[in-house]
Amino acid sequence: MIISMKLHSTRQEIEQVCERIRDFGYKIHAIEGEQRVVIGAVGVGDTTACLESVEAMPQVEKAVRISAPYKFVSKEFHSERTRIRVNGWEIGGDEFIVMAGPCSVESEKQIMQAAEAVAESGAHLLRGGAFKPRTSPYDFQGMETEGLKLLAKAKLATGLGIITEVMSDRDVDLVAEYADILQIGARNMQNFALLKTLGKCSRPVLLKRGMSSTVKELLMSAEYVVAHGNPNVILCERGIRTFETVTRNTCDIAAVAALNELTHLPVILDPSHATGKRSLVPALSRAAVAIGADGLLVEMHPAPEKAMSDGAQSLDIPQFRKMMLDLRPYVDLWKESRVTQAIAAV
Ligand code: PEP
Ligand code: MN
Repeated sequence: MIISMKLHSTRQEIEQVCERIRDFGYKIHAIEGEQRVVIGAVGVGDTTACLESVEAMPQVEKAVRISAPYKFVSKEFHSERTRIRVNGWEIGGDEFIVMAGPCSVESEKQIMQAAEAVAESGAHLLRGGAFKPRTSPYDFQGMETEGLKLLAKAKLATGLGIITEVMSDRDVDLVAEYADILQIGARNMQNFALLKTLGKCSRPVLLKRGMSSTVKELLMSAEYVVAHGNPNVILCERGIRTFETVTRNTCDIAAVAALNELTHLPVILDPSHATGKRSLVPALSRAAVAIGADGLLVEMHPAPEKAMSDGAQSLDIPQFRKMMLDLRPYVDLWKESRVTQAIAAV
């Protein structure tokens, strides 16, 4: 924080402000200037409360935050990329990770078919929701524990790691028994009780951006999980609400690049929820590779026309296979650029 005093403040007034800053646990780093005194405060604490308190003092002209309010997830404090090991793969490392599968687990036949296609296409993890956050209470809510058991069967059959959503802090232990990554949906990005519980969990967390949340709010939510003890958080851009209606959400592709500047955490794109249209998924997936995302979360269904949720945005198996093949040359370039970046960073 930098605190600028009013012109001609007295020694006593300056000392009062320094005292207040120290009360919040910060150290006074520098006091400069002939006419105007500027105080630098360093340390970790409740910066917002300190700024508000200091700014309310009559001798203070202005108090500003200098470093990001998200300490643990910020690149300012940790410049090296976070790499997260999941079922033999590394997210945030040298591999472009594709997580694919249906929106919801619907039956044994459906999830097995999907899992086989995901594995055969060279993707890395199987997605499938067992607990579904649906806008209408009358819509399919997911198979819950039965769905988790089917995911475990699919994992046994294919060796694929599992990513699935957890909606409530009550279910974290249950879902963590079956999942290799716990997905936090857009609607729960700011469920702070859930985020705190995830901090105590040993599984990596994939945190989706809330549909009306800023990039900074997404980072603050990630900070909750990391500050409560779990450093393994993957961020996911999945489209935000805007005035545009041609797509289900507006894919904020720039957020991927912005996040890569701001945080060391891995960042992936969900082109399915970002667009709501299967025809747009391959193009957005290429964009994700080109912009330097660490991977994709894609919806794919053996029979999208019969899907119980999100059929319109789900690729069928041949479309998914084709997309994976078409992505190869882009992923090869991606790998080259990762190597170049790694060399440049040494
Ligand atoms: C999903 O992945 O199926 C899902 C519900 O996503 P979101 O939370 O991004 O809407
Ligand atoms: Mn979905």
